[in-house]
Amino acid sequence: MSSADNFAYPEPEDQDIDAGPHEPIPSVDGNAAAGALSEIFRIDIIAALGRCRHCGAVRAFGAAMVFTDAPGIVVRCRDCQGVLLRLVQTPTRYWLDLSGLSYLEIDREE
Ligand SMILES: [Zn+2]
Repeated sequence: MSSADNFAYPEPEDQDIDAGPHEPIPSVDGNAAAGALSEIFRIDIIAALGRCRHCGAVRAFGAAMVFTDAPGIVVRCRDCQGVLLRLVQTPTRYWLDLSGLSYLEIDREE
């Protein structure tokens, strides 16, 4: 745990994280959302490029910040922290909000 990104991975003993107003809320990278999203998208979502509707940044989905300590999964732009995607799963349905993405650019399988 030496790089700056690693603070986002809570240690098992840190399950009672109580982030105050000045403390960053822990997040993980886009891979954390890949399992749930792969059930919806039959594509390589991690490599897909997404454009943030808030700031215009275009990045691989895998570079986004994923917050799993929420009602569902919240994916935020690494540049402006705007919400790109929200996903809530129930036993019978998915609720998917992609309104924070202008587009997704996805490689076609050959
Ligand atoms: Zn952004």
